[in-house]
Amino acid sequence: MSDGVRNVIIIGSGPAGYTAGLYSARAMLDPLMFAGYMSGGQLMLTSDIENFPGYPQGIGGPEMMMQLREQAERFGLQVEDKNVERVDLSSRPFKVWVEGEEFQAQSLIISTGAESIWLGVEGEEAQKGRGISTCATCDGAFFRDEEIIVIGGGDSAMEEATFLTRFASKVTIIHRRDVFRSSKVMYERAANHPKIEIKTFRSVKKWLSDDNGLTGAVLEDPRDGSIEEISCTGAFIAIGHKPITGFLESQVETDDTGYIIHKEHTMTSVPGVFAAGDVVDTRYRQAITAAGMGCQAAMDVEKWLEEQH
Ligand code: NAP
Repeated sequence: MSDGVRNVIIIGSGPAGYTAGLYSARAMLDPLMFAGYMSGGQLMLTSDIENFPGYPQGIGGPEMMMQLREQAERFGLQVEDKNVERVDLSSRPFKVWVEGEEFQAQSLIISTGAESIWLGVEGEEAQKGRGISTCATCDGAFFRDEEIIVIGGGDSAMEEATFLTRFASKVTIIHRRDVFRSSKVMYERAANHPKIEIKTFRSVKKWLSDDNGLTGAVLEDPRDGSIEEISCTGAFIAIGHKPITGFLESQVETDDTGYIIHKEHTMTSVPGVFAAGDVVDTRYRQAITAAGMGCQAAMDVEKWLEEQH
């Protein structure tokens, strides 16, 4: 076992995790964070954040995450860029295994966020990383002067499509209905872009490819089942996210879709285990709301630890 029993271990390093780290460090709880091998969470894959208060010119996702980390570390947050493999929440102190090593803590804050959902249609598996991606910021530059499609009707799809116009000759947004979940401002920006076309009432039924990679997709109109083909060499799936909770092995109560449920304030079904950010949030899923919930979780941990004495 490493390091004795910590007051709190924070698992996950998005805005929720770092804010929890900042608050618990300032509360002198000497927190330890396992940030994952790719610390910073989804915002590391985001180009510009325009809606986090305090940045009138916007800020790059990776830059913001580096600043959040630096701020929390200044007050004593210890960050390890490692993944948590497994936890045992059956008794206190809780046990956390990282690269085979056991750590113990009186309380945990789970802020592991969420990951992209794939469509799961025929031909997808073989073309992942060979034309089909879920991250425009990561892979967009591979498609210079090519025709790209983006699947989805939410903010992610609008943001990815707009970003991809930097590289692509044409971007087509494919959405399964004609109502968009995206905010009006992001929809308008995409809809008014000269390089972007929006096709509604289309679902991808199957991906098409040859030896060089993706060549297109078969689209179906959900209203009447009619079929058409679209040519593209790149496709970006932006249909939402699912919470990252596999390492918990069902020891914490979740809803039907796997999101952790809060029982009392930010505490989960296991007393002493708290959760914050996209791993619990089915509604807002914003950097600012995740950060706010990270603050709440840290304050709840502080109070809960006091009550245990
Ligand atoms: P989302 O809002 O849940 O939208 C997902 C979209 O994908 C919906 O249009 C949905 O269609 C579609 N979809 C879902 N499953 C599908 C399937 N199997 N086949 C075809 N289409 C499918 O997800 P998101 O866009 O990732 O956004 C998530 C959250 O992050 C939101 O709260 C959003 O505001 C936030 N976000 C904010 C920003 C920003 O402000 N800069 C950027 C990105 C994301 P239906 O509408 O028909 O269900």
